[in-house]
Amino acid sequence: MKTLLKNGISFYPPTYEVKPIHILIEDDEIINVSEHPMEELLTDMIVYDLKGNLIVPGFLDCHTHLAQSFGRGIYDNLHLTQWLVAMSMHFDQLTEEEAYKATYLGCIEALKSGTTTVAEMATAGPHLDACIQAIADSGLRADVCTAIGDFQEGENPAPELSTSQTLDVMRNLYKKWHGTYGGRITVRVSPVGLPACTEELMRGSRDLANELGVGIHTHCSEGETETQNAYERFNCSEVEALERFGILGPDCQLVHDIWLTEHDKQLIAEYDCSVVTCPSTNTKITDGMPPMPDLYKLGVNIAIGCDGEASSGSYDMLQEARLVSLLGKVRTMEADMFPAEKVFEMLTVNGRKSIGFNTKVGEIKAGFKADLTVIEYPTPHMIDERRLLSNLIFSATGTDVLSVFVDGKPVLWQRELLHIDEEKIVADILAVMRKADHLLIK
Ligand SMILES: [Zn+2]
Repeated sequence: MKTLLKNGISFYPPTYEVKPIHILIEDDEIINVSEHPMEELLTDMIVYDLKGNLIVPGFLDCHTHLAQSFGRGIYDNLHLTQWLVAMSMHFDQLTEEEAYKATYLGCIEALKSGTTTVAEMATAGPHLDACIQAIADSGLRADVCTAIGDFQEGENPAPELSTSQTLDVMRNLYKKWHGTYGGRITVRVSPVGLPACTEELMRGSRDLANELGVGIHTHCSEGETETQNAYERFNCSEVEALERFGILGPDCQLVHDIWLTEHDKQLIAEYDCSVVTCPSTNTKITDGMPPMPDLYKLGVNIAIGCDGEASSGSYDMLQEARLVSLLGKVRTMEADMFPAEKVFEMLTVNGRKSIGFNTKVGEIKAGFKADLTVIEYPTPHMIDERRLLSNLIFSATGTDVLSVFVDGKPVLWQRELLHIDEEKIVADILAVMRKADHLLIK
């Protein structure tokens, strides 16, 4: 089946000049991209008229906990250390229905703000499958994992499973979900982070990732206290310990990366790890100021994540992108740090590299998956096409997104979710939330 998206405009890298664009799709793949109309050449195809709106690659949110939708607004004024305890109690109490619906709510928000791929570290306790099922049902592309740990972190509840049982959870997740939904759902290995893991689990995670041929996703050096605690356990920094345990490598996503030493930064660059920065979380729960400019100057691949809504407040990647740039500028006092085109790359191609997909996403090119986001243009805050990339990063938000395609199919069209009864889902979820007073931990 062929699909034509006609009469759009888009950025043409490397100059990012804005020009007309027509995109021909066969099944789930882009097969032709042109500045010139193609319609008259073809028959038997579905045509979507973009009517002059802006079309870009769908955004890759490289670190989420989508089930945290229920936690939004509950833990607004907690520092990370207290927040971690509150959230772990929250998730222990989610029912299967709540886990599914909370995740689904997050998916709706992600899709409606232009995200087509998430790297989901599922944190829904025993209801892991419900969480992933919700993502699959929503239409998002997802590289999923689950937060595994075998060491009691601070005041958090003690882990219930042994190290080998914890690794079995990960292995079973892979067996059940990897490559499902036509390859739209993939799985990677995810020790939650060194403060909640033993050396044995870290080494086991690397062995498992190598055995399964997938990458590793882990939190790294997020909180000052947690980083210090890890130092006392291992007598070295988190990154140095991760190197010792074999975790670092080009297939490794290190999320947050705040309390890094200069040696840590060098190691991340030398091992060609990707970092995923989550600036709303880092500021809102006072993790600290992420040193992304230092890593950028060392050539490290930087992608962006919304993290969970209970800590960030939103799954809107454009809000995160803007904050990445602003924090980079003020941290360095260099006004040209993280210009719009660099942040746009973080939203798209850097995200793909970070996840290490064999799947080609993040660019509008023949041979790539047709994962695409349409943004309303012109609007009062996006008028001049010569400044459109800057306007997208510094002026737009997710509410400017009109339509979203995943695998060549419209999931959102003209702000309407096509295969989801949004009104019913929101009403259902609201009813569940109102019954869920037990989640409102003070
Ligand atoms: Zn996280």
